[in-house]
Amino acid sequence: MSETICSKCGHVGSSSDVKPEVEVERTKLPRRVMRDKIEFDNTYHPGVDGSDLVHEVHSMRVGERKLYPGAIPFTSIEISEARGNPKPLCHNCGWTTQQELDSGGYTSRLKVMYLRKNSAIWELGSNGPWMLKDEPNNGNSAWHTDYTAQQFLRKEKPNLPLVEMHKFGGPDDKFHFTIMARAKGSTIGTIWHTLTREQKNDVFQDLKHCVKEWRQITRPHMQRVDGSELRDPIIGNCDGRGCIKTGRDEEEWLENLTPAMRKGFLWLLWIRNNGSGADQCTRASWVEEVDEKVSQMKANFPRGGPYVLTHGDLHEENIFISDENEEKKFKVTAIIDWELAGFLPWWVEFFCSDLPDIMEILGDGQDIFHPGYSTEDLEKLWKTVSPVKDSWQDGGNHTFSSHKPDESNRWHRPPFCACKPYAQEYRDADLGLAPKHLDIFDVDSTDSEDDEKDDGWKKFPKQERSFLRWFNELNNYKSKKAGLDLDSPPLTIR
Ligand SMILES: [Zn+2]
Ligand SMILES: [Zn+2]
Repeated sequence: MSETICSKCGHVGSSSDVKPEVEVERTKLPRRVMRDKIEFDNTYHPGVDGSDLVHEVHSMRVGERKLYPGAIPFTSIEISEARGNPKPLCHNCGWTTQQELDSGGYTSRLKVMYLRKNSAIWELGSNGPWMLKDEPNNGNSAWHTDYTAQQFLRKEKPNLPLVEMHKFGGPDDKFHFTIMARAKGSTIGTIWHTLTREQKNDVFQDLKHCVKEWRQITRPHMQRVDGSELRDPIIGNCDGRGCIKTGRDEEEWLENLTPAMRKGFLWLLWIRNNGSGADQCTRASWVEEVDEKVSQMKANFPRGGPYVLTHGDLHEENIFISDENEEKKFKVTAIIDWELAGFLPWWVEFFCSDLPDIMEILGDGQDIFHPGYSTEDLEKLWKTVSPVKDSWQDGGNHTFSSHKPDESNRWHRPPFCACKPYAQEYRDADLGLAPKHLDIFDVDSTDSEDDEKDDGWKKFPKQERSFLRWFNELNNYKSKKAGLDLDSPPLTIR
């Protein structure tokens, strides 16, 4: 069971070495103590366990809890030091030694409930109706896309079930804060198994209506709702990061996918035919063969706008339902997580969705997205998309590409405190900077050939490095190796 480290922001740890002592011996209490003694009410101090507290009435200790070792009494020097020169006790909520001593007893009702890299959602009151998103201002972040998509939908389709959101922070501010309502009801994933067939059908009909509503909104180009460049939710997507930009139409999208597609096929030829030993003529024939194959795949890829507003990540935990309405009928109360949303080809929503319960029980699940299309139609279409997706995955996935920042920098905090020596780590990739996916990159800037002994530590083994250098040449990419090796002063490692 986890145990709270900081009672203000709710940071948790896994164990405690301050063992509260329980007193066995009981003494008879004076009348005034008996008369005025009340029980601790943790309604006003959520998360605080009254049985952990040392209770005094008229300065007389009552209850079973003995004083915590080393806690009190303090010397007057210690107290004036803590008050006069306050030190932070928790870097997340800013609680200090002074506040710990001076306050008449405060417990924050804001608690961290969810972390994502250098962003968090704070709960405003335990299970309360409001939450606060705290995040770096990054126009490319998933939460930014989520917010702009929902704002857009609130205007375009006011009846669509969304959660209320109010964002604070301008374009130049380093951080943005968003107050958002907690979705009402439960997710489909949580309660689907408890519903009758009729109730399931009610949900299905309402969801179908919602999807139809947002799919009526179209644009002549692929883009986010604010017109900015859209990230690919389905093909050029390492670990859900949406690495590749889609461009404005399929031609630009395929162009952005091409380097990784070529890389995947060329690599296969390189390892099968000892690429390092192959002559220029042989390698040129591989390039010709691969370019022919990639052109064919691109030619077969489905094309054509208008582009349809797409959620991009619809699954059973993103859809909230409830029957708390006048008709007592199950309806969709909120559709959340519009983090990948944008205007995309008509077929993308179906292939980006994961609604197995709805599809399994009601059948014909694709009908939610594409009335009039059969499963066979969609399977036929997928046969033209999947070769592009598979070949991009072979050459562009995160083990064969480079991401910047790439977690090569980590900073370790000092321990939380002496008795809870846990230390958080800050990573460059998680600071809040917009991440970059690179298919063509300087393999020599990270992996030096000079130190053969350290081969196991390198991101790419020797054979891959030779291949990537050749691939860079093909793409007219010049290594910065010379500059890096000569200009950088040697690092001192202590
Ligand atoms: Zn705290
Ligand atoms: Zn990537």
